[in-house]
Amino acid sequence: PGGTPASGGAGAEGVDLHTDRAHGARIYDYILGGKDHYAADRAAGDATLQVWPSLRIHMQANRSFMHRVARYLAADKGIRQFLDIGTGIPTSPNFHEVAQAIAPESRVVYVDNDPIVLAHARALLTSTPEGRTAYIQADMREPETIITAPELLETLDLSRPVGLSLIAMVHFIEDDDEAYRVVRRIVDVLPSGSYFAAAIATDDFAPEVLARVQEVYHSHGETLRWRTLAQAERFFEGLELEEPGVVQIHKWRPDHVDVGRVDDADIAMYGGIAYKP
Ligand code: SAH
Repeated sequence: PGGTPASGGAGAEGVDLHTDRAHGARIYDYILGGKDHYAADRAAGDATLQVWPSLRIHMQANRSFMHRVARYLAADKGIRQFLDIGTGIPTSPNFHEVAQAIAPESRVVYVDNDPIVLAHARALLTSTPEGRTAYIQADMREPETIITAPELLETLDLSRPVGLSLIAMVHFIEDDDEAYRVVRRIVDVLPSGSYFAAAIATDDFAPEVLARVQEVYHSHGETLRWRTLAQAERFFEGLELEEPGVVQIHKWRPDHVDVGRVDDADIAMYGGIAYKP
């Protein structure tokens, strides 16, 4: 476990990692200083840094938003079970570590479709004895496989509130209709009292440079779909947004230490949390 998977494209579990092209999870890991990336990912990351030097600040702000989401739902809202889709390569503290630090009995189901996340899933299965974690290898674009997965149904009680988090994930679904439909499908199975948290990529604050970032991602074989504020807000339709609504992630209930450290143009991500009535 941990460390760089063996070369030649075979991961720790013998899964095919498609190392010939860049993957979002591994670019993210590379930029955040992790160890689980390949030449194609580093090339895409370096090319993106060239056109947009703020990439690292943006990604750090995203990880920090994820931590605040977990804390807010566990501490302020009393949520004790979570479904985190688009988990990424494990980087401590992971979602369950943040939630279980507040409430050790918290249960977290992780979902990702990248085989490298599966290869490192052990780091996600380090639950407290009181709580529980599970990992499902599945594609969000096939929501039925997620909501019917035995690991999910054995870990979460869907008659009680769930915190659903899609942090920096929907920009990998380019088609808007598909993105809204699959999110809706998952939200629909959650009971009243649940929360939905999302971070949604946007080019609203630096359109020229982020158009180039999108070109770089595409030229390296990875998807990247920017969305406007209105498009980001549509993900929360039918739900009640918590204050301060959908805002850039560094402005969503920032920790005092974060205040004033970044410019809006450095952050290409909206975030919000909504309540399901
Ligand atoms: N949520 C984490 C990681 C973000 S990186 C964080 O914010 O820190 C985005 C993750 O979404 C990657 O691990 C990628 O593999 C995953 N992902 C992309 N498309 C997906 C899909 N269709 N289904 C499931 N996961 C997906």
